[in-house]
Amino acid sequence: MIDERETARAAQIISGRRELMIFGHHFPDGDAIGSILGMGLMLEKAGHRVQASWPEPFEPPEKYDFLPGRRLLRRPSELQQSGAVIALDCANAGRMEELEQVADLAEGLVNIDHHPDNSMFGDANLVDHQCAATAQIIYEHATGLGIRLDLDSALCLYTAIVTDTGRFQYSNTRAGTFEAAAEMVRMGVEPNLVFANVFQNDSLAYLRLTGSILSGAVYDDDLGLVYAALRREDMKRFGVAMNETEDLVDGLRTLRAHRVAALFKELPDGKVRVSLRSRADTDIGSLARRLGGGGHRVAAGYTSSASGVDAAVQELREELGGRSAGAG
Ligand code: AMP
Ligand code: MN
Ligand code: MN
Repeated sequence: MIDERETARAAQIISGRRELMIFGHHFPDGDAIGSILGMGLMLEKAGHRVQASWPEPFEPPEKYDFLPGRRLLRRPSELQQSGAVIALDCANAGRMEELEQVADLAEGLVNIDHHPDNSMFGDANLVDHQCAATAQIIYEHATGLGIRLDLDSALCLYTAIVTDTGRFQYSNTRAGTFEAAAEMVRMGVEPNLVFANVFQNDSLAYLRLTGSILSGAVYDDDLGLVYAALRREDMKRFGVAMNETEDLVDGLRTLRAHRVAALFKELPDGKVRVSLRSRADTDIGSLARRLGGGGHRVAAGYTSSASGVDAAVQELREELGGRSAGAG
């Protein structure tokens, strides 16, 4: 639950400034992008000048091209420092990477997020881990923040909710999630339009890459771990970009009886980004935090400090093995 005084404090920071910068996290997902665009549009309608961004690589995934408000987007290098910052879907300021400096110099910082490990880094913190998506917090507190939903912003926030709940299937889906979505549909949002753009919009190259990566999946029965790796050479061979691979981990988690699904992605600089998903009884958020990342109980991630995919796989195995041994 968010205290009304906190909403009032956020409203004060926002309403006192014409210029606002809205930032999301590194490698933004549907919630980050939908929240940025949705809230950006609402603030613009309320008379603010909005610049929206996220850290490099600043490459908006094509599947979100149908969302309105992309004119608000700026590369980090094109931002003009002005006014207050609103951080969306970031558990801590470090998730904004190089934009954290811009936030430090801003005239105020509002933190709106739903991660359980949020560090409350803002001057005002609208943080509620019961909310399925950051977009749902924006929706629920819009009136208190002095902004209003219209069809365009509703489309963005709806998309954010759909993606962060796995189309209303994950354990974060509650009655309030459907209530928010229902109101957006009443306003004119078409669920099928979102489905067609976000989930029926893959390239043939991506489809083939998925086949190749999944055919290399490994299952460790003792750990209940299913994993696969996406290497730089796979991306090159199939002609697929990193920002197309957000949902690839979902292909692994349909496996019967697994506890944890992990996708190891080799980044252009050779580091390995690990996407973790689990069933509700295994808390991988704290595991990811121990390895330098973070996230939710059942969806989390980190960038491994191990060198190379094989070492990162070993590191995760040890972490999971230690945990299950310790837990008896
Ligand atoms: P991803 O596997 O990249 O889709 O990330 C799943 C979730 O894990 C995200 O929603 C974030 O909450 C969290 N997450 C991923 N990477 C990191 C990281 N490096 N630091 C903190 N949280 C992360
Ligand atoms: Mn996110
Ligand atoms: Mn989110």
